[in-house]
Amino acid sequence: MPTKTPRGMRLIITLVGSRNAGKSSLINALTSQDIAIVSDQAGTTTDPVAKQYELLPLGPVTFYDTAGLGDTGEVGKLRVRATLKTLWRTDIAILVVGEEGITKHEEKIMQTIRELGVSFFIVFNKLDIRPPSSKDIEFCKAQGYFFMSVSAKSGEGIQQLREEIIDFAPAEIKCEPVLAADLITEGDWVLCVTPIDLAAPKGRLILPQVQVLREILDCDAVAVTVKEREIEEAFANLKRPPALVITDSQVVLSVSGDVPDTIPLTTFSTLFARFKGDLPCLVEGAAAIDTLNDGDTVLVGEACSHHAVADDIGRVKIPRWISQYTGKEIDYEVYAGHDFPENLERFKLVIHCGACMINLAEMVRRMNECKRRGVPITNYGVAISKIQGVLERIVAPFDIDVRTVNAKTISAAQSMDKQTP
Ligand code: SF4
Repeated sequence: MPTKTPRGMRLIITLVGSRNAGKSSLINALTSQDIAIVSDQAGTTTDPVAKQYELLPLGPVTFYDTAGLGDTGEVGKLRVRATLKTLWRTDIAILVVGEEGITKHEEKIMQTIRELGVSFFIVFNKLDIRPPSSKDIEFCKAQGYFFMSVSAKSGEGIQQLREEIIDFAPAEIKCEPVLAADLITEGDWVLCVTPIDLAAPKGRLILPQVQVLREILDCDAVAVTVKEREIEEAFANLKRPPALVITDSQVVLSVSGDVPDTIPLTTFSTLFARFKGDLPCLVEGAAAIDTLNDGDTVLVGEACSHHAVADDIGRVKIPRWISQYTGKEIDYEVYAGHDFPENLERFKLVIHCGACMINLAEMVRRMNECKRRGVPITNYGVAISKIQGVLERIVAPFDIDVRTVNAKTISAAQSMDKQTP
């Protein structure tokens, strides 16, 4: 059922390599389907072509067939850019090597992939024409690169290639990170609070809420879903207190007042912050809100392009709450979809959405990029909990000490300020 799995959960495998190394044919062989353009003419593929496939026992994966990374000219530059953009969200890259073997071009591709921090291995294609040269084999061994040989044409080595992809899959994907499953046990009651306001889509719940509800059911626990106005009634009717309350971040302040301190409370956003990356890092980033000054620019990152509503959370509510909290005049820039700006240094803080539509690898890479540039990053839910003064309670189920984290961030911000002329 590949089309029913949220896009953010798919493993992304990108094939890179020289023109006509046989990337398209290899995807055809791996998926046993004809999906990419295959031609005798070199460089037929332009924009990355995506193919979804059920790679068992791993689950749904997306193969990307990319244009060359060494193209020149105006169109070539666009192709290179499109390929790099795909690599940003890649879990595993496969460098496909054709009859020419490893040339300077392949070495440059390897360098690019390494710089992006994407794990990769080398596939010598066209085994039916010639096996890899001993020079290339020596090169791979000396560099410590895993390699194998296949023939997309005859099918030789294709099943082994599927198995190697599974082996290379990031541990986070293979060990199936959980949203709330480790916080509850079978038979527990979990109260979910989902306000239905102007921003709520018509006739359905949003994806993060659906995923959490599904996980609660998978745990054989009982999920009770209410709007914030019905919390009191829910408590009055539950025969035993819930093991956990999960609320939408936008009403976290009022919900924290309604839920007794003895009951663990967190937010959907916080669950996703942990599920899609590094919760302590996002908590650390939230402390930077205290260091914002007049004229600072904050980047609001959204992982999908959705239609912005009147009281949009990222564009309207969070900027308003931060202004009220800090009393400062701050500029906001919104980046939606797969685009994440390269010149991050000009932002004082990045506030990211729950990232339900991108995969773990891309979110982790965005966070790493921020860390590398010294820009704090947090997410909507963690930032809201911080502004509302309930962060300590919201992250308590995950054993995070907010006070230690705050001290670390503020001291880092002070040292950055001292370095700024
Ligand atoms: S903006 Fe972010 S959290 Fe909201 S639906 Fe899109 S990807 Fe998911």
